[in-house]
Amino acid sequence: MDKIKRKLLGILYPKRTKCCICGREAREAVCSSCLSLLEYIEGRVCLKCGKGIEDEYDPSVCPDCKRENKNFDMAFSCFQYKDMGKTIVHKLKYENCKEISYTLGRLMYQKIVDEGIKLDAVVPVPIHESKKAIRGFNQAQLIAEEIAVGLGIPLWDCIIRTKATTDQFKLDKVSRSMNVHDAFCINVLYNNVSERNILLVDDVYTTGSTADECSRILRQQGVQRIFVITAATGSNT
Ligand SMILES: [Zn+2]
Ligand SMILES: [Zn+2]
Repeated sequence: MDKIKRKLLGILYPKRTKCCICGREAREAVCSSCLSLLEYIEGRVCLKCGKGIEDEYDPSVCPDCKRENKNFDMAFSCFQYKDMGKTIVHKLKYENCKEISYTLGRLMYQKIVDEGIKLDAVVPVPIHESKKAIRGFNQAQLIAEEIAVGLGIPLWDCIIRTKATTDQFKLDKVSRSMNVHDAFCINVLYNNVSERNILLVDDVYTTGSTADECSRILRQQGVQRIFVITAATGSNT
């Protein structure tokens, strides 16, 4: 069925489902009242990592980004990784609510449209095959598919995770960076990434080590500009 026909059917016969969080009837995986509890990132943000910064803090980049340079150009997030934000991400990753990725994908797509960034392709942060076998899906890939369809640009699954790493949230900052070091490589089938503008997609941004390491690999291939979008971000340190 083509895209327009599917869209029309969606308007005429909206799908009814149950909210994965509160169980009430909803149009999609997370209902509008649960989504309204998210703490959306608004106001002043760090021009590098996209985390919120206080009004009284003068520089345009946060202390973290001042201290160390990252391999990507700019990162954006939709909401804070706390309270409802944390609940939604955990439900998606650890309680198998795969459909949440489409809801997140739509929020993230809107953010990119609002930012007005010109992109050539969407690239998901990969998970290791062993983790994918347990979870059954890579949430970043599902989110990326949703964004790619929205933007009308291709999805390139061009990064491979070569190391089965420990979950980043279990580690401190230094260990996070070591954990992901040399954990990725480029898929040799993708030899057309140079000079392109790429959107790297993941679910959560904490210290930015994962996004930074994936960006390093992309830079080695001559990618021109790298933007990062995550659904949730940790608060600034
Ligand atoms: Zn709900
Ligand atoms: Zn920053």
